[in-house]
Amino acid sequence: MTDASDLADRVQAGDLRLYELEDHADADTAAAARRELLERETDATLDASGAFAFDADEVDPNVENLAGGTQLPLGVAGPLSVSGGAADGEFYLPLATTEGALVASVNRGCSAITAAGGANARVTKVGMTRAPVFRVEDVTEGAEVAEWVEENFDALREAAEGTTSHGELTEVTPYVVGDSVYLRFAYDTKDAMGMNMATIATEAAADVVEAESPAELVALSGNLCSDKKPAAINAVEGRGRTVTADVTIPREVVEERFDTTPEAIEEANTRKNLIGSAKAGSLGFNAHAANTVAAVFLATGQDAAQVVEGSNAITTVEDRGDELYASVNLASLEVGTVGGGTKLPTQREALDVLGVRGGGDPAGSNADALAEIIAAGALAGELSLLSALASRHLSSAHEELGR
Ligand code: NAP
Repeated sequence: MTDASDLADRVQAGDLRLYELEDHADADTAAAARRELLERETDATLDASGAFAFDADEVDPNVENLAGGTQLPLGVAGPLSVSGGAADGEFYLPLATTEGALVASVNRGCSAITAAGGANARVTKVGMTRAPVFRVEDVTEGAEVAEWVEENFDALREAAEGTTSHGELTEVTPYVVGDSVYLRFAYDTKDAMGMNMATIATEAAADVVEAESPAELVALSGNLCSDKKPAAINAVEGRGRTVTADVTIPREVVEERFDTTPEAIEEANTRKNLIGSAKAGSLGFNAHAANTVAAVFLATGQDAAQVVEGSNAITTVEDRGDELYASVNLASLEVGTVGGGTKLPTQREALDVLGVRGGGDPAGSNADALAEIIAAGALAGELSLLSALASRHLSSAHEELGR
């Protein structure tokens, strides 16, 4: 068997390419050869990158040209009491982050929410989308294609659902722009985040559109989907899971846990999250939902790039006299408990901590529960940061915990 040094020699000599190493050695040796190559060609030493917990043989669906593993500190916040449509109970949130003060902040929010009896949470819409773009002759033909799509939904559904045993096509929305037609396909992808599933299913449906109408496919993704880009369509129509968490906290709990008042938190939310965000032309109206979303995404094996739309959130706060009402609505949270990075060992463990690993019963209930827990966690983070701002403790907390 070829050893790592030999492989690195052959790559340096131009006899082998980086992606050909697994043809000559097992996955661990190939990864070691890439590290050796990098060490020779740069000033880096990669001992830490070579110490990883996953099986090199099992990550080829996740990465190419494997060279090692990247580690992040994992913190935990909780317990967080959630009463959801799918999640019900007290949860410990696994948070992978390098931002000091983040876990402490979410933990403080969790403690107030749990002391108040817990957060409610509901998934109100499910729909992973893929929107291919087609070329037509002109707007007349575009309108003809849009009409054909509306009249032939069943044929599209049959083609799309023929590629998956779990996914269900729920909607196809046409958009005609000049001589381009965009068809936004939406799927219930159950416990999968569903981007591969939706793409494969949409390709089959697009074949039917091309065969039966004058439209010609230009690109399977026409950016009206819209994946991994900030986009108002996701904020309005939703993508993945649309989920909201809310809580009502007695005034004395607010004062005791947050060292401030409901009216001060409401004012901070209005002037910062609502007016400030509007003035900035922001798509999100929240304080830092991305922090909780990103940390849970990294811990549980979600697609990190989807934090872009996963953190598209509106936070509301109302001072109700003897209590505080607060909510966070995440319009487009794309999460799964099967597939993608959820199969990796530390990510599986984090899903086990939440009790949502793998397929749910009924299918989709585990991903719904994960979405509800993330929304409640984001609410905890929002309340804690707004309180720190309202009580003017933000910079001292970061000084103490983050430096
Ligand atoms: P996947 O790992 O490609 O597929 C998951 C599969 O699990 C489903 O297709 C389904 O098979 C099966 N499954 C088993 N039990 C299930 C259950 N209870 N609910 C739902 N499905 C179940 O994952 P994916 O979620 O479709 O896609 C996620 C991956 O796509 C990530 O790795 C992400 O990084 C990547 N991604 C891809 C694109 C793209 O354009 N292709 C874009 C962004 C991200 P059946 O379909 O046979 O039922």
